Amino acid sequence: MKFTFVTLFPQIVEGYFSDSILKRAIADGKINIDFKNPRDYTTDKHNRVDAAMIGGGAGMLMTPQPLMDTLKDIKSKSPNAHIVFMTPVAKRFTQNDAKRLANKEHIVLVSGRYEGIDERVIELEADEVFSIGDFILTGGELASMVVCDAISRNVSGVLGNNASLEVESFEDSLLEAPSFTKPNIYENKAVISEYLKGNHSKITDLKRGLALCKTKFFRPDLYKKGIADEK
Ligand code: SAH
Repeated sequence: MKFTFVTLFPQIVEGYFSDSILKRAIADGKINIDFKNPRDYTTDKHNRVDAAMIGGGAGMLMTPQPLMDTLKDIKSKSPNAHIVFMTPVAKRFTQNDAKRLANKEHIVLVSGRYEGIDERVIELEADEVFSIGDFILTGGELASMVVCDAISRNVSGVLGNNASLEVESFEDSLLEAPSFTKPNIYENKAVISEYLKGNHSKITDLKRGLALCKTKFFRPDLYKKGIADEK
């Protein structure tokens, strides 16, 4: 699966893929990453990619031409590329989106900067738009990395153990139950004793109960959905 990051600051993103699971996924050919910088496409004689907002407003916006030409170039070589814009003005990205998009061949993640992107580019080119939460970042690069990371984990072969995908938070609309590793006692705090006894059906039941408690406490919205889905 291929990801193209469209960004004015590719160096912000590059480092994320130089270690750990995603580095291995690239080395193994499970995912492929490349970068396109709209600044390389600008026809402005001063190399500008931004301009003041029409109608007033503080700050600059990314102009249509460099971005449109970047996306046209990508699509001329990859007509089925799925174009995704990062913007706070969108539905929030979820684990379901991460799973769904893991089936795409090529995803293009477009990061805005400054006060964002001229709306017409989004209208013309976006197959999808995502927000990663109710806050404003200085640019879309972190959001693009979040989305790419979450999708990549769902691409077959990226995680060493596919089973780890199945028991994670947000499966069944539940957050994950508490997890422990060695030592059994740390700073006077013991691992939940049932976990040590090796009765797997009991442990599964207990974990489900704990997951329900955690979800009810931290995410009452998910809890309600989980209960409704079970009915
Ligand atoms: N003026 C815009 C914010 C621009 S922030 C507004 O008020 O809606 C600059 C860029 O950062 C955006 O174009 C977008 O790509 C990115 N960005 C900021 N916050 C984001 C979020 N919560 N989710 C996804 N992208 C975000």
